[in-house]
Formats: sequence, C-alpha cells, structure tokens
Amino acid sequence: MIAKDTIALVRDRTDIVAVVSESVPSLKKQGRRFVGLCPFHKEKTPSFHVNPDSGLYHCFGCKESGDVFTFLERIEGYTFAEAVRFLGERANVPVHVEHTAASSDADRQRREREALYGAMQVAAAFYEAQLRDHPSRGSALDELARRKLDPASETAAAFRVGYAPPGWDGLATYLRRQGVSPAVAESVGLLVPRANATGYYDRFRHRLMFAVCDAQGRVVAFSGRALGPIPGDDARDGGREPPKYINSPESPIYTKGATLFGLWQGRHDIRHEAHAILVEGNFDVVSLHARGLRHVVGSLGTAFTADQARLLRRFAADVTLLFDGDAAGRKAARAAEASCDAAGLDAKVALLPDGTDPDAFVREKGRDALDHVVRQARGLLEYLIDVELDESFSAADLRERAARIERVAAMLAKQTDPVVRGMLKAYADYAASRLDLVRSAPNAFGALERKVLSTARARVELGPRPSEARVRPRRPGQEERKAIVGALLDFPALLNDSEIKGILDLLEGESARIVAAIRQCTRAGARGEMTFDSAEFLAQMAPPIQAFASARLAAPAHETIDEARSTVMANARKLRETNVALEAREAAMDQRRHAGDWDAEVERAKHIATLVRERNGLGGR
Ligand SMILES: [Zn+2]
Repeated sequence: MIAKDTIALVRDRTDIVAVVSESVPSLKKQGRRFVGLCPFHKEKTPSFHVNPDSGLYHCFGCKESGDVFTFLERIEGYTFAEAVRFLGERANVPVHVEHTAASSDADRQRREREALYGAMQVAAAFYEAQLRDHPSRGSALDELARRKLDPASETAAAFRVGYAPPGWDGLATYLRRQGVSPAVAESVGLLVPRANATGYYDRFRHRLMFAVCDAQGRVVAFSGRALGPIPGDDARDGGREPPKYINSPESPIYTKGATLFGLWQGRHDIRHEAHAILVEGNFDVVSLHARGLRHVVGSLGTAFTADQARLLRRFAADVTLLFDGDAAGRKAARAAEASCDAAGLDAKVALLPDGTDPDAFVREKGRDALDHVVRQARGLLEYLIDVELDESFSAADLRERAARIERVAAMLAKQTDPVVRGMLKAYADYAASRLDLVRSAPNAFGALERKVLSTARARVELGPRPSEARVRPRRPGQEERKAIVGALLDFPALLNDSEIKGILDLLEGESARIVAAIRQCTRAGARGEMTFDSAEFLAQMAPPIQAFASARLAAPAHETIDEARSTVMANARKLRETNVALEAREAAMDQRRHAGDWDAEVERAKHIATLVRERNGLGGR
C-alpha cells in the first residue's frame, strides 16, 4: 500500500502534459487544454484531450480516459504502484510502501513472484545462448530455415527464440550455477522432479523455444516445438514420437487462458491499427511478425477465452479470427463468439483454405495474399449462422437440426440492439431460404424454426418479445440537467455563486448526486482559491457518469467562468419551463412506449438490412 497523501503529492507535482507529450508528440495547446493524436487508436484528426487543470486525459474517438497514472499503466503496462513509483522518482517524491502486517505479507509475495520472473529470465537467456553455440542446435536452425526465419532477426530476438539442448540437466545445471533454486524453477515448470530419485530434470529437451510474455513484457512461460532427430542419435525418449508442442504448465505467474502470445511484441501495432488478428498457433504469430504483420496474437493452445478477449480489448476493439476453414476452425470460431461478446470485441472471421495454417500460407503466397484474406473477413455472427444453416442442415437428423435452430435463435435473441438484431434476422432468413425445407418463404428462418421444432416437439425459449424490447425514452429535462452539470464540472467554483446556488434545487436524481459530489471534492486552498480533486470525485461516480465526467474534465466546453455561468442560467430557465409541461409529456410518452416505437425500430432495421444485402449482392433473393 502506498499512502494516499503520497499518491496525491506525486500527482500534484507531476505535469501530465509533459508525461503525455513523450508518447504524443502531436500534443498542442488549445484554449485551456491540449489536443493531439490519440496514442490508443488510429486517427488522422486529433481527438485526444489533456487538461492540466484537472490532470485528466480523454479521447473522444476511443473513449480512453484517466489520470497520469492510468496513462502510464495503459501505455507502458505498469501496475498502479509502478506508475506511482516511476513518477515519484521523476518528481523527487520518495514513495514508500507502508509496512502493515498485510503489506509485509504482500511484500513477501512480491519478492517470491520476482524470484519466479527471475528464473524465467535466466532460462530465456540460456535457451538463446544454446541456439548460438550448442553442438546439437543444427535441427533447430534447420527448422527456422524451413520456416524462413532468420535466427539473427529482430523477430527472433523479440520472441526470445532459443534452443533447449538434449540431455536431461543442461538447464538444471545452468540454473544451479546462476543461484536459481530448483524449487523456484520447478514452480514455473522449467524443471521436473525425478520420480524415483532425488533431483530434477529439464522439462524442455531438444526443442525450438519461444518465450511467452505477459502484458508487461516479462517472460512467464515457454513454448517448445519438437525437432527432427539428432543425426547419429536414436535413443530418443523411449522411442516414442514426442508431442509437437510442449508448453509450460500454469504457475503463480502464468495463467494459460489469461495470456495472449505476441501481445507484448505487437501491442504498439495493435493499438495503432485499432485491430488485432487472432491465430491458433504460436509459430503463426512469429511467422506473421517476421513478415511485418505485427498486430497478431495467439491464444496459446486454448479456445479464445473471455479473459483473453478482455485483455485484447484494452488494446483494440476489433479482432479478426484467422482460422482454418475446417471443422476445428468452425469449432474455434463458435467458442470465440461468447468471449468476444462478453468483452465487447467486434469480431470478424477470415478463413484460410482447408488444411493451411497462416504460417504456411504467408510463406507460399506472400503477405499481400494474406492481407487480402484478412480484408475479406465477414462478421462472426453471420459466419456462425452460415455454419449452422449450410447444405449439411438438410442432411442432418432431426435432433441435430433442432440444436442448430436453437443456436441461431439464441444468437438472434441475445442481440439487444434492434438494428443489429434486424440485420442478423434478415441474414438468417437469407441463409434459411437456401435450404430445401423452406425455399422461398418470406420469413424463411421463422418457417424453418416452426417446421423443425414442431416436428421435434421441442420447446425453445425465444428471445424477448417485441413488446418487451421497448426503447427507453429519454427523460424530459435530461439534456438541460446534463448541460448544467457539465458547466459546473468546467468551473466547480460556480458552486459558490449565490445565484447558481438558487437554481440547484431544479436538479434531481443522478444530477443532484453529481453536484453534491463536486461540492464535496472542492476545497478552499491556502489563499482562499478553490481546488477540485478530480480523482476523488471520479472514484465516487458510477461507470457511465465517470465516462461523461472524465471526458468533460479532460476537455472542458467553456473557456471562461462567465460562459459557464450563462450556460447554467440558460438551462435552468429551460428546465423550469420543462417542469411545467412534464407530467403531460410523461403520460404521452407512456402511451407511445406501448404502441409505436417498436414498429419504427423494426422498419429502420429492415431498411438497413436491405441496404446491407444490396451492398453484398444479396438483393432480390
Ligand atoms: Zn483514442
């Protein structure tokens, strides 16, 4: 734990503009704030705002926002404590970790973890050295040559490509000499205890090695690929064919489903492209990196998990799943859907010809051909609908058909956005209309559903009925209250203005709570001036308010307090007028809610679906 006062002192003594400028050279002063090109997403016109008064930044393009600590966490991958320590050093503020009972425990844990990272670091250097010098490294170099990977390249260095020598204790001996305890090496899976003797042996033997890094660039695991036999040596592990890949087991520093292979190496490109490509194999990641496609990550031998999706979402909102078009690829795409959905990742699918992996494809056809495949990617949900309702549907048995229908129905039902749901529904109709069972039905998917399910006598829960999926009306006066709150955030000192105090009872609910919090976080300084603690204020706000408030604090809409005051007064006037008419409008709103809004939404969705179908050459079917 770092003391709250220390954190506040470091924040006060740090010039956020100077820190941000180092990563955002385009930052320029504009009125009270600074504006530049966002480092978190790709853009041509600046929408990244930094306000030295509030100490906050906000991007109107990708909605990234926070204070100087958050900025370093996101840009450099620091933890919060690391960011405080780093800035403390710059600002000459000593940062001590408080030694309470709990934190000395935390301290011990930190030291233990550092020992684990240290062991991995030593092992990575060992494997790299063996690839340069070991007499048996020939088959590792052959494998790299076959993949057209230069062991002296930047890519090889970035992935710490190395060689685990044959024999049983090459690494074990080296670690002992370097003072790494075998127990530590065992807990990160580098060494394995001997079953019926004392001592340990190397987990990775005669393998081509890649380091797996976490989001901070620390080596947390290894992936080792099997190699061809060493000439003149036929005594391989009991004569059995070794597994193609061996990966480190999970450990206190490595959780398989929460790490992405290549994220660290590709993070700048992923942010810059605002897009990532997900592949299945580790070699695919390395191979694409070597060909200049660095916004590529691998899921480390698991299905794409929700944790991995959330990790990736911190760097980009769009992902293209680049999979093999075979059954395994379909299965992987289906598994990725829920994860992308949970993380808010917009997912597309790009398919390679059957039996080809990205590495082989890019080596044979070149980078342009791969770019082309990626550009041809289609929406993941459309792809999954196609998979369920393809030609094999008619041949499937009744139970299989019902299961597929249910999966499509569930996908449609899950969409809360009526526009997206309308488009997907249109797509499902199109896909169903190709099937023998329901040719030329206007509502083909619905017809298919009724036909199959009534035959199967299966009951499925369908999505929310149209009448339930009503559109939430905007509360009257909301815009005015928002304008008032915004102006007060621009100049919290307005809360001391007697005229302003008089209109505050016009606020209610959320807006009243926000204003109370602004007041609570505003203090008189030494010379009677008002200071506003934006960090404390934001900590009290619910996420949606936080988003609005941090944007506003980073990019105030008013340049002077007088402008802000007139905004407050003008909106207070409107709010008074609105209040008079409020009850009548509420009633009218209620009625509309029951009748018209849904139909309007459906019409809009249909219109958009038609446009999309026309664009894709599906019109008229
Ligand atoms: Zn941005």
